[in-house]
Amino acid sequence: MHRPSPQAAPTDPSARARAYASVSLWLDTADDDLVATDALDGDREVDVAIVGAGFTGLWTAYYLAAARPDLRIAIVEAEIAGFGASGRNGGWASALFPSSLATLARGADRDAALRQHAAMRASVDEVIRVAAAEGIDARLAKGGTVTLARTATQLARARDEVAEARTWGRGEDELALLDADQARAHLAAEGVLGGTYTPDCAAVHPGRLVRGLVRAVRERGVRVHELTAATRIVPHRVETDRGTLTAAHVIRATEGYTAGLPGHARDVVPVHSLIIATAPLPAAMWDAIGLRRRETFTDGRHLIIYGQRTADDRIVFGGRGAPYRLGSSTRLDASSAAAAHRALHETLVGMLPVLRDVEITHRWGGALGIARDWHASVGLDPVTGLGWAGGYVGDGVTTTNLAGRTLRDLVLGDATDLTSLPWVGHRSRRWEPEPVRWLGVNAGLRAMSVADAEERITGRDSVAARVMAPFMGGH
Ligand SMILES: Cc1cc2nc3c(=O)[nH]c(=O)nc-3n(C[C@H](O)[C@H](O)[C@H](O)COP(=O)(O)OP(=O)(O)OC[C@H]3O[C@@H](n4cnc5c(N)ncnc54)[C@H](O)[C@@H]3O)c2cc1C
Repeated sequence: MHRPSPQAAPTDPSARARAYASVSLWLDTADDDLVATDALDGDREVDVAIVGAGFTGLWTAYYLAAARPDLRIAIVEAEIAGFGASGRNGGWASALFPSSLATLARGADRDAALRQHAAMRASVDEVIRVAAAEGIDARLAKGGTVTLARTATQLARARDEVAEARTWGRGEDELALLDADQARAHLAAEGVLGGTYTPDCAAVHPGRLVRGLVRAVRERGVRVHELTAATRIVPHRVETDRGTLTAAHVIRATEGYTAGLPGHARDVVPVHSLIIATAPLPAAMWDAIGLRRRETFTDGRHLIIYGQRTADDRIVFGGRGAPYRLGSSTRLDASSAAAAHRALHETLVGMLPVLRDVEITHRWGGALGIARDWHASVGLDPVTGLGWAGGYVGDGVTTTNLAGRTLRDLVLGDATDLTSLPWVGHRSRRWEPEPVRWLGVNAGLRAMSVADAEERITGRDSVAARVMAPFMGGH
């Protein structure tokens, strides 16, 4: 039987709630008692059974319940809603999609690729709309994203990216090239040579959003069975440690934890992303740093970093780089996590030396999900009634919303603008068996840090990054 993590092992509900609060800054400050409730109690028959109460499962339930209040919908969640990546992420509700427009166009056509991109942009506003409509105070601020260029090669890549965007008809209003002063006006980091800016991102408190959504779906009659782990998913049935759900439709929404389900070991690999959060910074420090509109921020390095200014004036800063665990384990060992957190702190202080002595109050990490071709997908097999969504890599906060609306249409059998988007029904090939998978994924992660170092030393576009590009999704 699979449980995502024994991290929250205590059986006493309040001790368990405290353990959940320690999962991330976001759950710690979600303004929620985090008491897991409504564990499944025996067998039930429903219309739609969903496995996993992260954003994918919750958005799907939300839109289905809104469209068809008569449907019996149940979600089973091994821990507590928001325990996975949805309660741990960097809080970028962005229009980013893990596949580039060129990749999408290769699989479909140019128009379809652009429709996917437009749907992602609209989804950012849809997240904001639903939060307001449901009275969820998710501390949203649509301040866009600034991507700093801090080396000559990063600047060249920024120029290329903007030139490429123009070939897709994406104008200045979608992606603007910034000179050094313009980029520094967003974020006064060290060594800024220029950058890009897109308005298509909102900073969000994901803990408040995910816990707000669980309340919203429960108010609409959806049963969210927390502390209920699925042990097997088969057509029209979800077997759990507390009973079996029988349903016309079964939706898998387990993302980075998918490998724990029998038959799914090679669908999606979990890769860890790690995050640190500072204490709230004083106003004078913010005057020097910027991020006045709570722009989310990154720079042009290969091994991804991401940051946001929270509503309570902290910096939340994350990045990839922790090793992948053999056998797709979602547990990160303490020494790898500590090393990754130290490296993140060094990177952050390298960008913003004023933060050197600021206290780091929270350190955490989580597993995101990567399909073999780095292509997110959503779909439903009409014959078996089995549906899924995932493979979002690091771009799931908004994409899950699009997935939820798409799964609504697929379950209801409606052919809509959403169900004809190119990611619908896409099937990624499976990952290699171990140990090839472990060797490959970790070689890719190492290559990205090598590539950044190589560029710092040579001042040229990295050979390592180019060689590894096919393994890392090619973009
Ligand atoms: C550290 C980190 C930073 C990130 N930053 C960003 C960001 O800034 N912007 C962005 O867009 N994306 C980001 N992402 C990605 C984004 O968070 C995810 O893509 C998104 O939250 C996935 O949502 P989900 O519901 O599909 O999966 P999850 O939120 O992982 O939910 C899956 C749920 O399924 C449950 N589960 C698993 N197995 C079972 C089982 N057998 N039975 C019952 N329940 C089960 C888990 O407990 C979990 O609650 C980040 C991810 C991480 C880890």
